[in-house]
Amino acid sequence: MAKEIPIKCPKCGVRDVIFITDEDLETIRKCGIARVGFIHRDHILLIDIDQNCFVRGGYIMPFMSMESGVKLFFQDYKVLTNAIVGINLEFIVLDLSKRVIDARPCPSCITNLYNILLKISEFIRIYGGGPRGVPKFVGIKGQKYSVFNRDHIFIFSPDKPSEPKHKSKWLYVLCNTVYIRKIPDDAELSNIVSYIEENISHEPSDADCVKLRNYVL
Ligand SMILES: [Zn+2]
Repeated sequence: MAKEIPIKCPKCGVRDVIFITDEDLETIRKCGIARVGFIHRDHILLIDIDQNCFVRGGYIMPFMSMESGVKLFFQDYKVLTNAIVGINLEFIVLDLSKRVIDARPCPSCITNLYNILLKISEFIRIYGGGPRGVPKFVGIKGQKYSVFNRDHIFIFSPDKPSEPKHKSKWLYVLCNTVYIRKIPDDAELSNIVSYIEENISHEPSDADCVKLRNYVL
């Protein structure tokens, strides 16, 4: 019994649609309301939904003051932003079939997130529709990102001045063994990124693939 609620931002006029999921209904049953946020150019529109699926309140928040635990969206993509701190290997994952953009493993991207999401949505329009060759790189606001793809999973990783030699192989493995199966939760992702960072000096072996896969079994 999914429900759609169209909304219009009182600050910038952008129109979005809230899709109420069973998970949201469960939250409403427990907490009385469910809160969702929409990422706009320089702010977030927060919306509270009550048990009758009515909009109970709308708030404009500065982008950087967003609370953790709020379900965030950009257009109709769910965006994960709960940053994994202290990592060197950074990347953003787009799961086209689940309509999720996972920015948790890219803490340095958060301040520029709106522009990155805008570029990714443009990328989806061009390359998400079919067997069109996916470019190896995209540029976003002067930063070059390497692109890795398998099926419905795309990984964008900002190129840094000194890159580990085997980074691209590890990111392909991450595509093939982890994200193709599921989007890891925060704890799983933290373990996965730590494992890759500890082992990135060698090429990923079959045993490494098994270990990574086991994190999401
Ligand atoms: Zn707005």
